[in-house]
Amino acid sequence: MAREGIAVEGRGRPWDWILAQLWAERVLISAAVFVGFMMWAGGFHLGWTFFAVALLVLAGLARVERMEERSSRPRVAAAASAPAELPVVADPLAEIATVLDALDMPALLVTSDETVKLQNRAAEALFGIIPRDSDLAGRIRSPGILDMVREAISSVQPREIEHAERLPSESVYIVRVTPVRAPTAPDEKPRLFLIVFRDVSHARRIDRMRSDFVANASHELRTPLASLRGFVETLQGPAKDDSRAHEKFLAIMHEQATRMSRLVDDLLSLSRLEIKANIPPDEKVDLKPLLGHVRDSLQPLAEELGVEVVLEIPDSPVVVSGDRDELTEVFENLVENACKYGQEGKRVEVRVTGGGGEPVEVSVIDHGPGIAPEHVPRITERFYRVNVEASRSKKGTGLGLAIVKHILTRHRARLTVRSELGKGTVFTVRF
Ligand code: ADP
Repeated sequence: MAREGIAVEGRGRPWDWILAQLWAERVLISAAVFVGFMMWAGGFHLGWTFFAVALLVLAGLARVERMEERSSRPRVAAAASAPAELPVVADPLAEIATVLDALDMPALLVTSDETVKLQNRAAEALFGIIPRDSDLAGRIRSPGILDMVREAISSVQPREIEHAERLPSESVYIVRVTPVRAPTAPDEKPRLFLIVFRDVSHARRIDRMRSDFVANASHELRTPLASLRGFVETLQGPAKDDSRAHEKFLAIMHEQATRMSRLVDDLLSLSRLEIKANIPPDEKVDLKPLLGHVRDSLQPLAEELGVEVVLEIPDSPVVVSGDRDELTEVFENLVENACKYGQEGKRVEVRVTGGGGEPVEVSVIDHGPGIAPEHVPRITERFYRVNVEASRSKKGTGLGLAIVKHILTRHRARLTVRSELGKGTVFTVRF
């Protein structure tokens, strides 16, 4: 192990050593004088007493001589030319351990015989405490990692693999083994190997979300596109001269084209929001006229669905900092959903509380069928719908609440959802 035979030069200054010698000599002489005095005081003959003192002084001088001789003898070849100072032998592993502890990723230092010499704190959290000198294979069960470590040891080259863990949670690591060459002997075969575990789970999750998103978006667009193509072919072929079919198919085609443009609008809206996600809006917006406008613009839909939209708002202005257009989009989405999905409750309340120093809360309350608890945490995900067909038939894209969530995150506001099956749902925005 690297600990053997490594001497580190002492860091003491020469005058420290001289002071130490003088101090030792002085102690011995003082002790001799003290003993002589005691013998004289005890009634011994004065001549014998001085003789004892002289002996002690000589012994002291001889000891100092020995110390001088010992400290000037080289301990290791490297220290031979060093100034006469007391060498300090440090544990190199202790220093490496301190450096490894500063790493925020799990790291293990193993020898070429696959013995664990060090683990840092992050590795303790991942594997539990591994006693020094344990066998690596006794702690890491993954054959992939063990094979890679063996390959790195035999080839003395860095190696890397991706390793997935299922428990306690799904995690993905890039595990890399690097031979550690001693700076004093760069040509010697390394005896230590550093294994680091880089957690890439978050990046992988984002990658998966992106690819899911692209797959979902393409799927959503493909369905109306396929339907449009089908109708175009029918109109060009079998229904070429059928004026009644023309009218019917063109209406469906119009509906499908509208659905596609709604989807594209929502996708563009999301990407615009992503671009400015970290810039909080600074406009002052009075929610009173804004919510009044939302209610008016959704009045035709509410009437069509037989729903009454009731606004409960304080008389005084309710001002929040935000972006007027984006907040309009938030409440249009929430009220539209409440009308569409809570239609059977026949009434939707938009209730505003707070203001004048108190946190402002806007609740959109419907008395519809509610949302089952297992769906509630997921409804703000892109394209997540409790019932895909119901959403499509209500002209939904599955992106409305994802847009709401993005806007509110940018506004540093929170969205909470409380729902009870059979009783209805309350979406609350807290500024
Ligand atoms: P969509 O375009 O499908 O309406 P949203 O993101 O706005 O997409 O909503 C996601 C899903 O959440 C909807 O498909 C619906 O299943 C459910 N949902 C939203 N609001 C309500 C509500 N007020 N009551 C019941 N379900 C709702």
